[in-house]
Amino acid sequence: MKSFRYVRAHSVDEATAAHAGRATSRYLGGGTNLVDLMKLGVERPETLIDVSRLPLDGVAELADGSLRVGATVRNSDLASHPLVRARHPVLSQALLAGASGQLRNMATTGGNLLQRTRCPYFQDPAKPCNKREPGSGCGAREGVHRDHAVLGHSAQCIATHPSDMAVALAALDAQVELQGVRGTRTVAAADFHRLPGDRPQTDTELAHGELITAVLLPPPAPGTVSAYRKARDRASYAFALASVAVVLAVREETVAEVRIAFGGLAHRPWRARRAEEALQGAVPGDEAFERALDAELAAAEPLRDNAFKVPLARNLACDVLRRLTRPDHPEHPEHPDRATGP
Ligand SMILES: Cc1cc2nc3c(=O)[nH]c(=O)nc-3n(C[C@H](O)[C@H](O)[C@H](O)COP(=O)(O)OP(=O)(O)OC[C@H]3O[C@@H](n4cnc5c(N)ncnc54)[C@H](O)[C@@H]3O)c2cc1C
Ligand code: SF4
Repeated sequence: MKSFRYVRAHSVDEATAAHAGRATSRYLGGGTNLVDLMKLGVERPETLIDVSRLPLDGVAELADGSLRVGATVRNSDLASHPLVRARHPVLSQALLAGASGQLRNMATTGGNLLQRTRCPYFQDPAKPCNKREPGSGCGAREGVHRDHAVLGHSAQCIATHPSDMAVALAALDAQVELQGVRGTRTVAAADFHRLPGDRPQTDTELAHGELITAVLLPPPAPGTVSAYRKARDRASYAFALASVAVVLAVREETVAEVRIAFGGLAHRPWRARRAEEALQGAVPGDEAFERALDAELAAAEPLRDNAFKVPLARNLACDVLRRLTRPDHPEHPEHPDRATGP
């Protein structure tokens, strides 16, 4: 690993001033992704600014019922927070579906949103990769791409975004709060990550040097239910092949509110806007769910080895919608025998 300067920041202003937009500065959260990439030689910062001890480690309830989650709240603390579990089970379940207990104890909210793709070509400096080295080519397109994108990819890059938490945040209409040397702004979580287009080296809308300070979770409307489901190669400690987050409210036997986001399918959490539009006002049931998901996934452009992700995502989403809308289903939130856990 290349040697680097280590700075421990005690305030947000101190952190952003220490970074000051320098190309060779990096913020350090839990270090569970950044340090691995430094060991591999993918990241070679000259200065690491440790933000993990900033006073951003709390979950606060605001006057309008929103929750403000500080950027250094650990994934395990966020998953087990009583207000998150009660109001946003989709978020708690997504966090618990990610990584392992040890990693969740280290990983921070800010770092989880900014973790890099797990594409093996990106992680190997000897291989061509437009994301790591613009213009060098994409090793995955004609190589190993079973885990890669089926929606919104480009000729330049077919990588997927790996965070489970980010998928739940997209479905929750959360906001990401950012602070740079020029001030504070918020960006919708669903728009925070970007599609690769011809700039695959840029994962998010974050300006260089901006610090994530918090994530804001709006209060759920009365009667809202939510759930996260993830398909992966092993029962734990594996990234999503496909995952889905659903937030739903049914009133007077029709869908009054629905938000669906997919993970593992695209370069960012994929908000299924067409499916949401098709379900709005519909009578919930298998036929409506399948029609809505088919409308969404018609846009998929699978590659040689990952066409299986399309029916997998469709089945996951239909299954979650079914569980959330049928009170006689054993996993319906109000069923007396409901199974707990992700
Ligand atoms: C074996 C393994 C399995 C895993 N499985 C999963 C999984 O199934 N699902 C999943 O979602 N994740 C998984 N992960 C990834 C893990 O969740 C991430 O490594 C972790 O969330 C990153 O958080 P961190 O705080 O450690 O980030 P760091 O490694 O500290 O930082 C990551 C990036 O974020 C930047 N950063 C950190 N904090 C801030 C901030 N506040 N503002 C601006 N920039 C910031 C850093 O500069 C760096 O670029 C796995 C990781 C490993 C090693
Ligand atoms: S898919 Fe993206 S990250 Fe992977 S090799 Fe191609 S350009 Fe690099």
